[in-house]
Amino acid sequence: MVATPIGNLGDLSPRARETLAKADAVAAEDTRHTANLLRHLGVHAPLLSFHEHSGEERVRALVARLVAGERLALVSDAGTPTISDPGFELVRAALEAGVEVVAVPGPCAAIAALSIAGLPTDRFCFEGFLPARGGARRARLEALAGEERTLVFYEAPHRIGETLGDVAAAFGADRVAVVARETTKLHETLYRGTLAELTARAASDADFARGEIVLVVAGAPARAGEDAHAELTRVLEVLLGELPLKQAAHLAARLTGARDNEAYRRALELKRGGESA
Ligand code: SAM
Repeated sequence: MVATPIGNLGDLSPRARETLAKADAVAAEDTRHTANLLRHLGVHAPLLSFHEHSGEERVRALVARLVAGERLALVSDAGTPTISDPGFELVRAALEAGVEVVAVPGPCAAIAALSIAGLPTDRFCFEGFLPARGGARRARLEALAGEERTLVFYEAPHRIGETLGDVAAAFGADRVAVVARETTKLHETLYRGTLAELTARAASDADFARGEIVLVVAGAPARAGEDAHAELTRVLEVLLGELPLKQAAHLAARLTGARDNEAYRRALELKRGGESA
C-alpha cells in the first residue's frame, strides 16, 4: 500500500519509489495519472487498473496473482490508498488469503490538515465525504453535533460554501473550524475562524472554493459527566411517569445523547426506587 503525494512530488518517500520500482506490477486508480508519476520517477513497472468500480472479480484476480507470488503495489490518485479511496476490500481479501500486506506510509490530506489546524489532535474523528444531497448531509451533521472529538471532512470545492452553512446550522456558528486548501501545492492556504466567519468568507472570496479542500472542525465542548447524568435522571423521571420503561429509556437516550444501555440501566434504578448514582 504505497502512499503518493497529495500535490507536491517532493513528498514521495525514497521507500515508496523503491517499492514501486521493485513491484511486479502497480495497481492504480487511474493508470494514466499514475503513468505520469512513474515516468517522473523513472520507474518502469507494468500498470493494472484498480478503481472504485472494479468489483469482486477484479479483487479475486489480483489476490490470485498475489497468492501466486507476485508483488503488487497499490496506489491511488493521491495520498494514502484506502483513505476515501479504493482498496480496502483488496486488502481484506489479501489478508484473508494469507498474503502479507505492507504499508509504505506517506502523505494523507486529512492528517496533513489536522497537523496544521491548531485544534486538538489527541482524539479525532475522520468522516470522509459528507453525503452530497442536502437532506442526507444535514441529517449526518445533526447526528455529529455532539461529537467531542475534532472532526475531519473531505469536501468538493463547489460544495464547500453550502456545507459550511450546514455545519454552522448543525454545530452552532461560533464553533472554530479550519479549511485547508491545496495543501502542499502552489496555492496552499489555511483559513481559520468560526463557522460563521468561514461561511461568510466562502461567499465573498472566489479563491476559497478553488482546488482541493479538507475541513477540520473543533469538537463539541465536553459536557461534564455529572451534568449529563443529572439531565438523564431528570428526563427519565418525567418520561417514566408517562411511558413503559423501555420506551422511556430509548426516548431519554435520544433526548439527552446518552447511550441506550446507560439510559436503560438508570431507568431500572429509578423504577426500583434506587437513588444510586
Ligand atoms: N487518499 C487521499 C488521502 O490520503 O488524503 C484522499 C483521496 S479523496 C478521493 C480526495 C480528497 O482529499 C479531496 O477531495 C480533498 O478533500 C482531499 N485532498 C486531497 N489532496 C488535497 C490537498 N492537496 N489539499 C487539500 N485537500 C486535499
